[in-house]
Amino acid sequence: MKTFECDCQAHQILFFESSSCLACGRIVGLDDNFDKVEPYNLDETTGQYFKAEEPEIRYQKCDNHADYKTCTGMVNLNTFVPVEGKDEVLCFACRFNETIPDLSIVEHIPL
Ligand SMILES: [Zn+2]
Ligand SMILES: [Zn+2]
Repeated sequence: MKTFECDCQAHQILFFESSSCLACGRIVGLDDNFDKVEPYNLDETTGQYFKAEEPEIRYQKCDNHADYKTCTGMVNLNTFVPVEGKDEVLCFACRFNETIPDLSIVEHIPL
């Protein structure tokens, strides 16, 4: 199984299904490239998330996490293009899933 490491002092091991780091408590998610699980910091004034090394890039949790807790995708708000007529904010995989369910993406298989 592929694992990742938090950048906090504990170097906590993170998994694809991790939603927060057990050591430092930060939110953990997958970015739009869906290749890396890493911690995000919360900007409490805006409610948006950002990576420590790229604070100018803002993220929001995928709506499928907010609604169903099924997805750990983080949506890059700097590049996000809303679907016309819809106000949902979905990560790359969930946007794709609306039309073609892709069960090769492990986090979309219900446990
Ligand atoms: Zn951590
Ligand atoms: Zn998603």
